[in-house]
Amino acid sequence: MTRLTPQNRLRDDLRRLDGKGYGAYKDLRGGYEFPRYALFIDHVQGDPFAAPSLLRLRLPQRVAQFPTDLFSTRPRRIGIEDYLTRAFGAACHARGRPNRGSGKSGRILTAACSQEVLERTSARVTPDHVEIRFFLGLPAFGRRIAGRQAEEMFFQDLPAIVESSLLYPSLPAPEVRRHVETVEDAVALRGGLADRKLVAFITDSALLPRESGVSDRPLQSDVVPFESPRSLRVDLEGPNCGQLPGMGIPEGVTLIVGGGYHGKSTLLSAIAHGVYDHIPDDGREYVVARADTVKIRAEDGRFIEKVDISPFISNLPFGRDTRAFSTPNASGSTSQAANIIEALEAGAEVLLLDEDTSATNFMIRDQRMQSLVAKDKEPITPLIDTIRALYDERGISSILVMGGSGDYFDVADTVIMLDHYRPRDVTEQAKQIARDHPTSRRVEFEGHFTDLRTRIPLARGVQAQRGRRGRVKIRARGEDGISFGDEQIDLSAVEQIVEQSQVRACGWMIHRAAERLFDGKRTLPEILDLIEQELDDKGLEAMLPNLAPDFARPRRHELAAALNRLRTLEVKQPL
Ligand code: ADP
Ligand code: MG
Repeated sequence: MTRLTPQNRLRDDLRRLDGKGYGAYKDLRGGYEFPRYALFIDHVQGDPFAAPSLLRLRLPQRVAQFPTDLFSTRPRRIGIEDYLTRAFGAACHARGRPNRGSGKSGRILTAACSQEVLERTSARVTPDHVEIRFFLGLPAFGRRIAGRQAEEMFFQDLPAIVESSLLYPSLPAPEVRRHVETVEDAVALRGGLADRKLVAFITDSALLPRESGVSDRPLQSDVVPFESPRSLRVDLEGPNCGQLPGMGIPEGVTLIVGGGYHGKSTLLSAIAHGVYDHIPDDGREYVVARADTVKIRAEDGRFIEKVDISPFISNLPFGRDTRAFSTPNASGSTSQAANIIEALEAGAEVLLLDEDTSATNFMIRDQRMQSLVAKDKEPITPLIDTIRALYDERGISSILVMGGSGDYFDVADTVIMLDHYRPRDVTEQAKQIARDHPTSRRVEFEGHFTDLRTRIPLARGVQAQRGRRGRVKIRARGEDGISFGDEQIDLSAVEQIVEQSQVRACGWMIHRAAERLFDGKRTLPEILDLIEQELDDKGLEAMLPNLAPDFARPRRHELAAALNRLRTLEVKQPL
């Protein structure tokens, strides 16, 4: 433990530094003893316009007084840490006095949280203490230190923020508890899916639609609450919510059909987000999917490095090898094929596909087209002919939004129709129609999903260093991409990323993994296992550069997706 400096020394220093050049702030680095907490100034920004300084507050539990049952298990701890991050952020916002000088002067910020509850670096709750991490813009006028303003921030604002957001006695206890219990319930519901041979569960009265295409908050008006069809109704149980009725989607191949604008994509998207826990009142807090559910889409233009897409694509022009398919510029269908194979490689159990974002020629080839374009002239084996093999050979279930092709009735186990946002089980009807109107299309699949080639990523293709001094440069560009050294990783089609904090973490974790785990022998799934093991054992910080608040844990699927989209990636396939 570092020795703490008495708070009065900080006050004296700030008075002494007032009006001096900004660089003198560097002297403040260190830990300070305040009456109720320790304050750590870990990193001091170089100027008022640079990324703000990095600080931590640590309160002993003697002061913070959180009951131990609020962090006694992993889901509960993640829940309370998420709650405190939000509470602290809201208190900073409420206290906000933006006009404290130039640049980022006077700002106090923590992670920006979405509707999802994630494992974050922004807060730690242990039996011993509560720690919160945040950014603080050390104030200045021009490049002169604004010591009085800084004093206000350290001696008035922060103590008030702590008082209102980090002490259990001053928090609304029922709300805190509800946040933690909601997370715990969602984890339990998700954990209960496999035993019941379900891939997803949507509770009755869930509110699925979102406010807008750019807001993930619940739509407020004219919402039709979810109501399960009787034949698919199940009860799942959580420790706090008790038995919840809802629609269970069974393993196998499920179609979601229905007219345009009847809520198909909204349902699929809620399922895709069901891999995460949600905050109370999100509307989807009891909508869960198996943890290894991956949304798949077409992504033309993406980079692909030696992926075995042969079950889907063979006989390409110029005899290109589809067991080790590489391209800097994939087509809609080859990108979708690669996205599926890469998802299997990373351990997906359930695939979600929406016709809105799929390549038509990847999904379907009807009888007439089969007659006109012979199989030996069509490299693509459409999903309709491969989707059963995915389930039969590898146990991969799938949920497809497919309003456009009834040919899929032949291969579906369950067909759900949405009618004015209300689901109906139309499996029997669809099967009857398939019998009454048989298609004469031929099944074209001849391959297998059991002998896909494995890939070993090589460290030399992963370069986060940049510039003459070779400094590591990794930046998130919103939720849509990473600047990684000299490269740009495009994540705009990786739909299950919910926060920039995950993107930032992905970048660093790939960099750290390449340095330490890419040994030229380990396969990608082995590396993903090791990363997850390390994160479980040592916490996120083990693979991150500092204690900034704005990192959140990505799933292995998003880590793999980011690596697979790094255009300098090199892999070898052991033969
Ligand atoms: P589809 O994929 O069937 O064409 P969408 O899922 O895109 O339909 O939904 C169409 C519109 O209806 C969207 O604006 C969506 O927000 C809205 N919507 C979806 N589900 C509901 C619901 N349960 N209640 C009210 N509006 C909904
Ligand atoms: Mg749609």
